[in-house]
Amino acid sequence: EKTLHVIGGGLAGSEAAWQAARMGIPVILHEMRPVRGTDAHKTDGLAELVCSNSFRSDDFQANAVGVLHQEMRLADSLIMASADRHQVPAGSALAVDRDGFSNAVTQVLEEHPLITIERGEIAALPPADWQQSIIATGPLTAPSLAEAIREATGAEALAFFDAIAPIIHFDTIDMETCWFQSRYDKVGPGGNGKDYINCPMDEAQYKAFIDALIDGEKTEFKEWEGTPYFDGCLPIEIMAERGRETLRHGPMKPMGLTNAHDPKVKPYAVVQLRQDNALGTLYNMVGFQTKLKYGVQKDIFQMIPGLQNAEFARLGGLHRNTYINSPQLLDASLQLKGRPGLRFAGQITGCEGYVESAAIGLLTGRFAASELLGHDITLPPTTTAFGALIGHITGGHLSADEPGKRSFQPMNVNFGLFPPVEIVKPEGVKRFRGKEKARAKKHAIAARALADCSRWLGVENHTAAAE
Ligand code: FAD
Repeated sequence: EKTLHVIGGGLAGSEAAWQAARMGIPVILHEMRPVRGTDAHKTDGLAELVCSNSFRSDDFQANAVGVLHQEMRLADSLIMASADRHQVPAGSALAVDRDGFSNAVTQVLEEHPLITIERGEIAALPPADWQQSIIATGPLTAPSLAEAIREATGAEALAFFDAIAPIIHFDTIDMETCWFQSRYDKVGPGGNGKDYINCPMDEAQYKAFIDALIDGEKTEFKEWEGTPYFDGCLPIEIMAERGRETLRHGPMKPMGLTNAHDPKVKPYAVVQLRQDNALGTLYNMVGFQTKLKYGVQKDIFQMIPGLQNAEFARLGGLHRNTYINSPQLLDASLQLKGRPGLRFAGQITGCEGYVESAAIGLLTGRFAASELLGHDITLPPTTTAFGALIGHITGGHLSADEPGKRSFQPMNVNFGLFPPVEIVKPEGVKRFRGKEKARAKKHAIAARALADCSRWLGVENHTAAAE
């Protein structure tokens, strides 16, 4: 049967169903609400926003999520069209009336002649006679299906909590203060003894930093989340609370490291940063998973010598979140390796956020429909926001199984995931450093993304005309 089955009518599943249907493919969308609820959803509507009503920045010239909005608009996204129609004032951000938005998505899908919505839980992996299916059951995937996925992928490959260390844009790290070195100059596989960036602290700086961690405002776990602390993954501020020296004997230990800028002075503590993507544009703060509020994280982490001007691609966190180890499990078209016709979409793939989840839904809907139509799948160029997200999810970065390297953690779209651009100083401009240069780079990456995306989709780049 040439039908696509989509499991989960959230941000990703709704967009996937719409995209396949607009390509002429019949879709059955399986949504368990209201038969069974989740701990966060409150309504029976499709594409319910479980928390904030913001789709974040709509600036498509200088913000990566703004670029993603625009690429989705170019691809005739239902989620974006409904958000635009139900926008509420929020400065340069795109915020929506959550009920108006969810009702609009629900109504379009309910009225679409090719789409059938079946309300009920899917408790096992799709049966063999479903030729094409997409699992888009989100961060709160119902337990029976999560268990079935775990059985199919292996226990290690499905996580129920994320433990997110902050990630920094490399070009905002002060390398006059920091230096490259692996502890004891150890040369690992693929390394050269200089794999980490080290940020040194003296005793006074360390003490002030510990005070800031202990005093900083924290986010509480929601009651239904439980308290998922497990050894080896404690939030940094909990370690600091357990003893003022704990961090100096843990993730901030100074042993085996010599300050290349000042070899005679022994650092009292060291924060290590590890390369986070193959492009080398992003570095993560090793061991710095945290429940500190976003608002205070930047201030506290900028106290670290060398990070005084750091810009963060991702802040730290620890949440209830069901997601698979996509770099290991999925191919470039988000298909489970060894299970042709079964794809994953949305937050369960390890992207983060409403918009990113919907974007991955958009892509998988198109990929699955192409297969049912007998067409080849063409992947979005790596220079687009779509391509950058797929790169993050399916492994355009360092893989989890390289010993000592990063583990796969969810992330929002950001400019660090795009291949860098070289820009030259425009003629007649005198000052072209720091902020001006960073802004010009963002503009160049954004313009390249939208041009390449419209070429890939075969549509006119109406965004260029708007500039
Ligand atoms: P969802 O939108 O959750 O959709 C999954 C759907 O699948 C749900 O409708 C669910 O009922 C259904 N389902 C689950 N299991 C089954 C099953 N076995 N059979 C049939 N149906 C099933 N992102 C932001 O950008 N901003 C925020 O403020 C934000 N806050 C969040 C707060 C919480 C508490 C959580 C958990 C996440 C939050 N997120 C936020 C992250 C994320 O972007 C959203 O969860 C987003 O909705 C993910 O989209 P999705 O389509 O992958 O999953």
